[in-house]
Amino acid sequence: MANPNHSFCQETSRMVDRGIEVLGFDPIEAEAIKRCNAVLQLHFPVRLSSGLRVISGWWAMHSTHRLPVKGGLRFAPVVNQDEVEALAGLMSYKCALMDIPFGGAKGGLSLDPRELNEEDLRRVTISFTQELARKGFINPAIGVPAPDMGTDERVMTWIADTYKDLNPDDLNHSACVTGKPLNRSGIPGRGEATGRGVQYALREFFRYREDVEKTGLHPELKGQRVIVQGLGKVGYHAAKLLQEEDGCLITAIIKSDGALVCDAGLEVEQVHQHMRATGGLRDYPDPRARFVERGAEVLEYPCDILIPAATEGQIRADNADRIHARLIVEAANGPVTYAADVLLRERGIVIIPDIFANAGGVVVSYFEWSRNLAHMRFGQLQRKIDEERGGHLVTAIETLTGHSLPDWLRHELMHGSSELELVRSGLADIMYTAYQELRNTMLADPQIDDLRTAGYVIALSKIARSYRDRGLFD
Ligand code: GLU
Repeated sequence: MANPNHSFCQETSRMVDRGIEVLGFDPIEAEAIKRCNAVLQLHFPVRLSSGLRVISGWWAMHSTHRLPVKGGLRFAPVVNQDEVEALAGLMSYKCALMDIPFGGAKGGLSLDPRELNEEDLRRVTISFTQELARKGFINPAIGVPAPDMGTDERVMTWIADTYKDLNPDDLNHSACVTGKPLNRSGIPGRGEATGRGVQYALREFFRYREDVEKTGLHPELKGQRVIVQGLGKVGYHAAKLLQEEDGCLITAIIKSDGALVCDAGLEVEQVHQHMRATGGLRDYPDPRARFVERGAEVLEYPCDILIPAATEGQIRADNADRIHARLIVEAANGPVTYAADVLLRERGIVIIPDIFANAGGVVVSYFEWSRNLAHMRFGQLQRKIDEERGGHLVTAIETLTGHSLPDWLRHELMHGSSELELVRSGLADIMYTAYQELRNTMLADPQIDDLRTAGYVIALSKIARSYRDRGLFD
């Protein structure tokens, strides 16, 4: 846990309080927003290959001002109720900030998925889904889980199948869960979505010279020296996209078994392949790279941008003073504790907060859920017509000018957008709009001098408005 004196819920609550203070909310209204609406605690028996086992888990619905509630499902040995509640709260604020029409939720099972074979994992997932579905917690209109730490497309497929078996007459059954594989009603781009969102968050940040100036960094994203913690679903895509598409130098990758450091920059795809083949970062064949056993210390190595993309509580009061990065992008949920956040801000280190930086996953989950409810893929109606119009445009330009267009421009004008392009464009639009709202909120109020507080001010205002509309708040 992040800080032995504070639970994760307390950590996030103290951050939310900064927003509440700015808004001057009535304490009871503040409590109404902050408290988890409902938490289901489960202990259910599952027959595994090793024998009968009782599995413990939670499903927390933080805020039901919008339904369904939405959030990831975490399978990890350290999962507990406090963590699940804190993460559910972060989902509420994240969805509100990004204008995604969901309340926040989170689920978790206290188990190590690496210790279970595929069939055992399937049985656990099916039993958990049955528990949730029979109690009405999972449903396209009520609660929609998604992948998180320790869960993946396979787990989402088992959830979808189980829900469908229990609800054969629900036409919208596939919208009961997101993060499904493409051939099972998933959406292109969901796998990369959180990492892609981190990339878009950084691109947008670097579009504002004044914002970059506060960090003291070079004004271009290209060439920035980046340390990434975590090479899972989020860290891998974020690091790879920043390296391959934005020209960043990934100077270190940190995992739980150690870190790989290379001042010349790591080839993220190669490191990832090595990790998949060997299970870790040790013995990476590039002679310029060195392995550092005590990986957590690498968080403190000199770099421009630090991207914690692993788990909560990684930057704390005991290491915050030694962080060299000038910009921290919270790709994980809650990687910086409250105390560390204060220390970092005092040192002028800029933090792009989790409720914005890692929102790409839930944004594309929203696209997937909408697509499932529409029973049609995005772009299906207009793709052909766009291509035909593009063809006419090319003919018109070439006829009028007497010149042929270069092939690349012809292609650009004549090809109808694929669903993946539409998803990326929708994600970029939502990320860019949210960043502009964050900075405008910060600029408009002298009480707000950090992006996190701005994020909470926006999210809390939107949630309070829903309560007001329902006549609950004055
Ligand atoms: N687990 C992800 C998160 O923490 C995604 C949640 C979702 O897609 O519903 O944001």
